[in-house]
Amino acid sequence: MADLDQVLSYVDRERQRFVADLVTWCRIPSISSSEQHRGEVRRSAEHLRERLMALGCTTSAILETKLHPAVYAEWMVDPSKPTLLIYGHHDVQPIDPLPEWHSPPFEPEEREGRLWGRGTVDDKGQVLIHVNAIEAFLRGGGALPINIKMIVEGEEEIGSAHLDDLMQEHRDRLSADFVVVSDTAMFGRGIPSLCVGLRGIAYFDITVRALTMDAHSGSFGGGVQNPANALARLIAGLHDENGAITIAGFYDRVRTLTEGERKEIAALPFDEKAWLASVGATAVAGEKGYSTLERVWTRPTLDINGLSSGFQGKGPKTVLPAFASAKLSCRLVPDQDPREIAKLVEAHFQKHAPAGCSVEVDYLHGGHPYLAPTDHPVYEIAKRAFTRAFGQPTVFIREGGSIPFVRTIADRTGKPCLLMGFGQPDENAHAPNEWLDLENYHLGIKSAVYLYDELSRTK
Ligand SMILES: [Zn+2]
Repeated sequence: MADLDQVLSYVDRERQRFVADLVTWCRIPSISSSEQHRGEVRRSAEHLRERLMALGCTTSAILETKLHPAVYAEWMVDPSKPTLLIYGHHDVQPIDPLPEWHSPPFEPEEREGRLWGRGTVDDKGQVLIHVNAIEAFLRGGGALPINIKMIVEGEEEIGSAHLDDLMQEHRDRLSADFVVVSDTAMFGRGIPSLCVGLRGIAYFDITVRALTMDAHSGSFGGGVQNPANALARLIAGLHDENGAITIAGFYDRVRTLTEGERKEIAALPFDEKAWLASVGATAVAGEKGYSTLERVWTRPTLDINGLSSGFQGKGPKTVLPAFASAKLSCRLVPDQDPREIAKLVEAHFQKHAPAGCSVEVDYLHGGHPYLAPTDHPVYEIAKRAFTRAFGQPTVFIREGGSIPFVRTIADRTGKPCLLMGFGQPDENAHAPNEWLDLENYHLGIKSAVYLYDELSRTK
């Protein structure tokens, strides 16, 4: 059994070299959405695989998909010990607009206790947190306390296009007792946070038609339907005066928050003013009876994301547009189902379309919401591990956004997905000037050390 103090002091000793290793990996521009960077994504996968092989993994492989490869490795130390599956990704977001970067995106630079560069926090740094913790056990303590499997995909930033195929194909290999994903952010600086809920999504194109061509607004205005007017009325009717969505059946599957959950959310040090200011908003808005965090994390939404119709140029042009269209998205919460919501949205528009107008509802894509089974003992274990590293109580948080791969992993492994993220809310993950807090990186490695140690006592 590894001596934990020795493992932790190894982490302290190697602190700078762990940063240098991250810099080396981040120099590989593994932009998965760019055809030109296809070779770089592969180089990134091979770089990681070499690192994992140097740590004496018992098996490793480049897992091919139809596009970018994933990396797989395992350290099977003892079949009687629990097995942890770690998920991460090695691909990164594009870098444009390049002029806004203060230092070159693929030449990571250390400033103000942060490492600036594409991929530092999303997600190469978070992958290396685990790799470094594994190294610390092996070289600092002599052995790993649990079996570890690691899958690091190369397509997360393009929607994990082939992750489901991969997980089906390698189902036996990927079986584990616990699953941890490190690809999210903490609630705030120094507040260790486990993300336990994600919203899903359903996305639509709505088109209202009434005429076969744009018509003269003098000759026909007031005598036929105007699709733009009709769409505006339909949209206005989607929410009632309390901000609730009026689509029949929309809330049928929405889980009510428990008193305990509401208390937990209310206790978080949420700076509403700063949150509003971050997008220049001057007032909160939304469904009556809920706090802002409750609205953003635990309630479904329906929002227009784009609107177009008729004449869009400068100056006047008197036409009745032939059609009007809108992009519409719903953020979904447990247990809403995107396909079911798609049927309800379609039925609503067909029912309320005025005579003389036809409505087309095109369901573009969807993703399921996720809610972690927080009564599973692994959540208490993770809380304890995280708290030991950061010296602060660990909080449960949710995220208003959607991370489709979490549902894929949870469904395919049949295990709860522990979202133990080490990012910061303002770390510019998909924007210019992405950065990783180096103190978080260091404490993240220690959190992983404590987590593996705690998990070793579960069998
Ligand atoms: Zn990510």
